[in-house]
Amino acid sequence: TPKIITIDGPSGAGKGTVAYRLAEYFGFELLDSGALYRIVGLMAFKNGLLDGTDIDEQKVAKLTKSLNLSFRPNTATKTVEILVDNTPLTDDIRNEIVGGYASRVALLPSVRTALFDLQKNMAKDRAGLVADGRDMGTVIFPDASVKVFLTASAKARADRRVLQLQMAGKVADYEAILADIIERDERDENRAVAPSRPAVDALVIDSSDKSVDVVFDEILTFAQG
Ligand code: C5P
Repeated sequence: TPKIITIDGPSGAGKGTVAYRLAEYFGFELLDSGALYRIVGLMAFKNGLLDGTDIDEQKVAKLTKSLNLSFRPNTATKTVEILVDNTPLTDDIRNEIVGGYASRVALLPSVRTALFDLQKNMAKDRAGLVADGRDMGTVIFPDASVKVFLTASAKARADRRVLQLQMAGKVADYEAILADIIERDERDENRAVAPSRPAVDALVIDSSDKSVDVVFDEILTFAQG
């Protein structure tokens, strides 16, 4: 049985859902690394650190270290809550605006360094871990036994996002969503440090035309093969 499974790839490819199913299947815990960048991005915004185009890296790194981030498994939801000063994160971080802030602070090497140990330590003293993000297989857990890069076309991801918003009773502007997705992909894929890309030993899956069940089965076959 694998001890660490990494699921990297762009947002909307289905990483979260698949990570959750794998964690449940293997009895592992979850690391949603994107949430860490999202809370740093949101706090940086709230502190006025994202106002201009030039970001003061030292200030954002200092803010990151001051957040006092920690984890707490929630047995009821079978997820791992991320705590800021012992208070669980709320859904405030789950929108495209905060996703954009996250990808801006994620460019900063000292912010990534400030989050390194926290993520690395998640794997200690646990039965196993399913970690999702952009650099789980390449930087944080290069020794993971199972690595997946889950992607999908920008159009497929925008379609899914629109559907999610509509089901939540919200208005969805397809063109704006697609533009946001493409902009964030560009930033994540072309940055100098920890760019979003498959590890050399990753199974690459394009989920554009695949159901969650099919993706899950392909990963299980890969993990057990
Ligand atoms: O996965 P999620 O959409 O929540 O991630 C938000 C942003 O955080 C990404 O667009 C990316 O810029 C950044 N991120 C990262 N490395 C990770 C996870 C997320 O740079 N491991």
